[in-house]
This record gives sequence, structure tokens and C-alpha cells, in this order.
Amino acid sequence: MILRIGQGYDIHRMEEGRPCVIGGVTIDHTHGPAGHSDGDALLHAITDAILGAAALGDIGEHFPDTDPEFKDADSRELLRVASRRVRDAGWNIINVDASVLAEAPKLKPYKAAMRQAIADCLEISSSCVNVKGKTNEGLDSVGMRQAIAVHCVALLQRVQEP
Ligand code: MG
Repeated sequence: MILRIGQGYDIHRMEEGRPCVIGGVTIDHTHGPAGHSDGDALLHAITDAILGAAALGDIGEHFPDTDPEFKDADSRELLRVASRRVRDAGWNIINVDASVLAEAPKLKPYKAAMRQAIADCLEISSSCVNVKGKTNEGLDSVGMRQAIAVHCVALLQRVQEP
């Protein structure tokens, strides 16, 4: 059995008045992640993790932030497309596990919905998706509520030769 691990990271500035979209879920909050797309750092990190595991480059190569097509893009659609490209390259997604670093909002009430939204994009069971929420203990830009950061890993299994 051929397995590949991939890692993803993303960080977005938190801006007052922006919609707060995290893990495909819109949260009622004063600040939201800024970005060319909807700024969903969690979905961006997952996208990079699965692309990385399949050696298919990174999110910026697949969906350039200079392309007007992706202005205010729904990051769920980007993840869906990336996941299809990973599958087309002969891989199954076994699981993804992410750590979301943010002082606010608190993620606990939204974690189940995030896992389901991510699982839907990846066409896998939500039991194969995990989202962990952490604060940064008041340290640096995340701790000062100026940013949200995400670390993610993904595991793929080879199902066919390319
Ligand atoms: Mg991003």
C-alpha cells in the first residue's frame, strides 16, 4: 500500500466587518479573515495539504490570487476542485487533521458543521476529518486577534497508477 502525507499552512489577517468564514461555515463575529477569496484559512490549509501529499503543487498555482475569477471565491469550491484533481491523479483521501489558531471566535460550537462541510468537499466521511481549535495564549499576531492561522496534515492512499 502506497501512502503519502501532505502538510498545509495558512494565515489571514482578521478585519473588522468581513464575513467570518472558517471551515466553510459562516460564523457571527465582529471580524473575519481578509483575502482575495472568502479568506477561509482552514479550507486553504486543507487544500494545500492534499495537493502537497499528491505532489500537485500548491493552492496558488491552481487558483492564482491575481485571477479575477477567484475574487471573493467560495473556498469550498476551490477545495472541491483540488480534491477532484487529487483523485484524478490516482489518490484516495484517507483523513485530514487541522489545528486552527485563533483567539476569537471560539470554534467549539461550529466544529461539527466544519467537519461536515470539509467532508462534503472531499467526498469522504466526516469521521475522517478532524478540526482542533487552539488559542495562541495572547502571543504574536494571532494572540493579538489580528490573524487566524491554520496547520493541517492529510494522508492519501494510491489507488491507481497515473
Ligand atoms: Mg489563504
